[in-house]
Amino acid sequence: MKDSPARITLEEWDARYAELRVAGLREPWYGGPLRRHVDEGGDYRLLRLRYDNSAAALRLWNFLLTEEDRLKEARRQGKKLVGAMKDLGTVPVMAYSLANVTAFYPDGAWWIPCVMELSSRDLEIADSLGIDESFCPVRAMLGAFLTEAHFPIPDLLTCNVGATCDDFSAIAQRLNGLGFPILWWETPHRRQPDSAAGEESVPLPGGLIAPREQVDFVRSELERVRGAIEEVAGGRLDDAALRDGIRVANRMRRVLAELRQLAYSAPVCPIPALEMLIAEMLALHFCSDREEAIRVLEELLEEARRRVGEGVGPLRKDAVRVFWVNPVADLRAMNILEDCGGRVCGTEYLFSHALDPIPEDVAPMEALARTALADPMVGPCSDRADRICRDIQLFGAEAVLVSRIPGASHCAVEGAVIHETVRKRLGLPVQEIEVPPLCDAVAPTIRTRIEALIEIVKGRRKP
Ligand code: SF4
Repeated sequence: MKDSPARITLEEWDARYAELRVAGLREPWYGGPLRRHVDEGGDYRLLRLRYDNSAAALRLWNFLLTEEDRLKEARRQGKKLVGAMKDLGTVPVMAYSLANVTAFYPDGAWWIPCVMELSSRDLEIADSLGIDESFCPVRAMLGAFLTEAHFPIPDLLTCNVGATCDDFSAIAQRLNGLGFPILWWETPHRRQPDSAAGEESVPLPGGLIAPREQVDFVRSELERVRGAIEEVAGGRLDDAALRDGIRVANRMRRVLAELRQLAYSAPVCPIPALEMLIAEMLALHFCSDREEAIRVLEELLEEARRRVGEGVGPLRKDAVRVFWVNPVADLRAMNILEDCGGRVCGTEYLFSHALDPIPEDVAPMEALARTALADPMVGPCSDRADRICRDIQLFGAEAVLVSRIPGASHCAVEGAVIHETVRKRLGLPVQEIEVPPLCDAVAPTIRTRIEALIEIVKGRRKP
């Protein structure tokens, strides 16, 4: 097999892995052939995906798919586990500031039905508890807690509520009722400061603002979270530790920012959409090993830099540049876009606040409160649409794909608002698709819609 960048199947990875080993590939302890995650872990979806063929991508996938082992090892070493729910990117920064605490997102169970191709019983269990398919796939989390088959039960469970989606609040309440105590902390719906009434305006990451009163409120809520982490960890989580934690989180966010810049704006795409989706997700919770997560991303960034420097990549140079809105329940959807002649040039996966740098010029709890309030979920959807328009221009996308999530309460009308804003403001074509946890049955429809979008863009390009 040649060493040029390509997207390859799992079968091709078998040969590629052997080849890399012969060439002297050195791997971390969690390394190995990707196929073992199918044979030993039941991750059958891997058989249907296409992957980047670099050693950096192999390490990324192996890191992602061994998180459960790391959590178990952390517990064995006596570390305390914090299950952070729904805030996507704030509580883990606090938790990792203490050496004896590891945080993870039980929300990640969202992808279990996809990755295991419904072979786990998580959705059935959720059904039996009255949380049926009128809810989004995050309901798989209920099954994951009851079977304890995917992650250990955390020592502390926190959940962000208030201006979050109804699905998550309802499911987390059900979890609480089943005997899993939860520390609830609230984020109010973000609003504009009332300048006529003299309200102080506070800048938030991502170019947003909020009234001082709201920032103070969230900071006081996060103080309760800090107290709970200290109690479970048996030590003080002081401002100095938090400052260090923020600094390390920002180091990772800077690596990711450069990676996104290269992947989404280079003339030839260096890293495919699927690997970039996983890379972005690492920013949320460091995949249960903060330092290693940074090293994994740095290696991917190195590969991206090398490819951009050589002007090579796994996709065609004329691939249509598509901005992707919302995460997909089935990872295969990211492959389909590229199979149809597209490439991802910018994303908004509902966690842009986990990618933006956390302010380092204010007190750490103030900085974290500002970050939490910058969550695209807690503000008006017009703020989200503004951010999307800005990023579309930044990355030079030619079209927008809004992927809806079946049953998800966050996007019932949001997709339409984003659609309209992008079309009116930028005049770009927008397509909407709905992606269930296993999209095989609707793949022809998804493909047709994406192909239509690609054709429209090609027709608009100047000859
Ligand atoms: S409704 Fe949307 S935001 Fe809420 S848990 Fe589901 S996917 Fe996440």
